[in-house]
Amino acid sequence: MKFGTKAIHAGLEPDSATGAIMTPIYQTSTFIQHGVGNHKGFEYSRASNPTRSALESNVAAIENGKFGAAFGSGLAAIDCVLKMLKPGDEVISTIDLYGGTYRIFKSIFEQYGIKFHFISMENTSGVEAILNEKTKLIWVETPSNPTMQIIDIKAMSKIAKSNNVMLAVDNTFATPYLQTPLDLGADIVMHSATKYLGGHSDVVMGVLVCKDEKIAKEIYRIQNGSGAVCGPMDSFLVLRGIKTLHLRMREHCKNAKAVVDFLKDHPKVDKVYWPGLPSHKNHKIAKKQMKDFGGMVSFTLKGDHLEDALKVFKSFKVFSVAESLGGVESLANHSASMTHATIPKEEREKVGITESLIRLSVGIEDAEDLVEDLKQALK
Ligand SMILES: *Cc1c(COP(=O)(O)O)cnc(C)c1O
Repeated sequence: MKFGTKAIHAGLEPDSATGAIMTPIYQTSTFIQHGVGNHKGFEYSRASNPTRSALESNVAAIENGKFGAAFGSGLAAIDCVLKMLKPGDEVISTIDLYGGTYRIFKSIFEQYGIKFHFISMENTSGVEAILNEKTKLIWVETPSNPTMQIIDIKAMSKIAKSNNVMLAVDNTFATPYLQTPLDLGADIVMHSATKYLGGHSDVVMGVLVCKDEKIAKEIYRIQNGSGAVCGPMDSFLVLRGIKTLHLRMREHCKNAKAVVDFLKDHPKVDKVYWPGLPSHKNHKIAKKQMKDFGGMVSFTLKGDHLEDALKVFKSFKVFSVAESLGGVESLANHSASMTHATIPKEEREKVGITESLIRLSVGIEDAEDLVEDLKQALK
């Protein structure tokens, strides 16, 4: 089955009680047992809930995985992956990382004795140099946030496999429409479903998908044991969002290209980060592992002055200044003071998150209006 058909149908059965074609919102905490232990597969909604289960099967299918698990947020999903580790274990992570991911690594799990190495993964040699018998997890975010570095998932999975280390990929920016990390050898795919999967900026949620039954068992043990699950209403909203994921992603990619075409020749713009640009340093890998180049674009201003960037933010009329990304509406974000404020300045600047960097989540409005908005804001 092709992507759009799977997005709309996979894992979903008409409701057995009523025939409802859309998965109902099973807003219930518990399920009746006709005699002790005689139930229909559901006992208590932390452990499993029919609306959430439908979503979990659907996400697993579009990621070409077998098992899905949904959580109360993307960070709750990451929390679950890290709880598979033990004190003394080590993690190697991309340096150019979502700020909240950096924070949960450093400020939560480091105090439980897990050690994190943050490195550039543009080539595999950096990872090989740090790998040792304590390494248990490689964490990859690609495209990365906000400078859109692309990491070769297949090359990483080779190293992970030959060293018996788990490889997890944060696929939030790309979505399974553009890339399916499990097909490239990753063990776990993670999403902030808050972003493109939900797609309408109306829900906070996270998901994990894997193929391996042993990993799935661990995930379900922690999902139920720690209890950071999402509710039935939110599950319904994300299921509904996924049905148009392929349509939205096509528009996001098309509009991002239009925005990049405008920005790249603008006299006030310095760098433009978008993996679809042939001049992007990882363009070749992007072309190899992604179907298109996504809706996230970052750029910096000539001179790199904070005041100039703030003026641009103030002047936007269609772009809204806000955290988050992946919704139908266009958003603009000042990474250094918003999403990446938790990362120390030197670390930030090392990966190119400088004072004037503006990150755009290009929405699915009409491209002409988005370009016009950028034009007047840069003036
Ligand atoms: C938003 C985001 C997260 C965290 O997800 P929440 O749903 O906000 O908890 C993780 N990774 C990336 C790339 C994100 O954009």
